[in-house]
Amino acid sequence: MLLAAREKLDHAGMTSSLRTRAVHAGRDDLTDLGVHAAPLDLSTTYPSRDSAAEAARIDAFAAGAELDGPPIYGRVGNPTVERFERALAELEGFEHGVAFASGMAAVSACLLSAVAQGKRHVVAVRPLYGCSDHLLESGLLGTEVTWATPGAVAAALRPDTGLVFVETPANPTLAEADIAELARACGDVPLAVDNTFATPVLQRPGHHGGRMVLHSATKFLGGHGDVMGGIVACDAAEAARLRQIRFATGGVLHPLAGYLLLRGLSTLPLRVNAASATAATLVSRLGEHPAVTAVHYPRIGGPLVAFEVDGDPHALIGAVRLITPAVSLGSVDTLIQHPGSISHRIVDEGDRHGAGVSDQLIRMSVGLEDVEDLWADLEQALKAL
Ligand SMILES: *Cc1c(COP(=O)(O)O)cnc(C)c1O
Repeated sequence: MLLAAREKLDHAGMTSSLRTRAVHAGRDDLTDLGVHAAPLDLSTTYPSRDSAAEAARIDAFAAGAELDGPPIYGRVGNPTVERFERALAELEGFEHGVAFASGMAAVSACLLSAVAQGKRHVVAVRPLYGCSDHLLESGLLGTEVTWATPGAVAAALRPDTGLVFVETPANPTLAEADIAELARACGDVPLAVDNTFATPVLQRPGHHGGRMVLHSATKFLGGHGDVMGGIVACDAAEAARLRQIRFATGGVLHPLAGYLLLRGLSTLPLRVNAASATAATLVSRLGEHPAVTAVHYPRIGGPLVAFEVDGDPHALIGAVRLITPAVSLGSVDTLIQHPGSISHRIVDEGDRHGAGVSDQLIRMSVGLEDVEDLWADLEQALKAL
């Protein structure tokens, strides 16, 4: 049933089909179960009278096997979380999804997977989310990074390269990379694409050769600013390694978070499309404002807008009244922040500037408010510059 639905998504490729699957993916069995909301299983342990049989299952789980039946222990897996994993995997067009406690736990697991295969070299394209940049630059997990422009990725590959890592559109400049071209440049090396900004509504990197598609589920997938999580959509072999790493390192998603994220998926296409339409209107108005020196908006659209101002960006952020002055993105309310001070503060100043993150840059994640109310707030706040 899951496969048939995925075929439909792949071949039809239409928003209506994605909208339908966003509502039903991970929930196809609910009617047969006689329930309407997905069951929330908060168990940390699962009783069994046959502990001899459990020994074999523990062996299988430790090697990364998929959940079959009760998970034995909460760190091995969770039925509610598994619904979210299946749903997001389907929306991204992959067989498997592996969920984590946060986006950074998902990024970490991808890096550890490369290291565990004896390939500690990573090629990455800037800009990346500040903490992803920091994790790679610091080498905290034993990786060694080579930063490359998309066109220089092929030349940067080494025999010990285990991963190529890219964000498109990138946080916070919204710079875009051609995923298909990058995938060709990668050859046999897996290409990991952080798809947090585009979501499967605007782009499915797996269709263009991305082998691992990551999300900070904290953002659009949850969509309401009240749940943290991360997920990787990938093939069976990679999913087994990621589960093995999650089992051993413990960065599991809480079942309640899994429940909220599954619920968030059902409105994902509506939220992303509505916010994108509002963002496009704000982009054209910002472009005409005399205090705005540049507006960055990706070709594929989306709810994120980046712009540079003439004057003190902190004055603008201090002056908004309807818009929420806060880091993060992808919520129902519009959020505005200064990457140089917050989301990308942890990146060395020279590297930050080199990646196009100027001190005048402001990042705004457009929410679901009325466009005229948002523009009125922006317009009055721009006077503070
Ligand atoms: C927020 C973010 C992350 C990190 O996710 P957390 O859930 O905060 O750990 C990774 N990548 C991108 C693009 C992000 O915006």
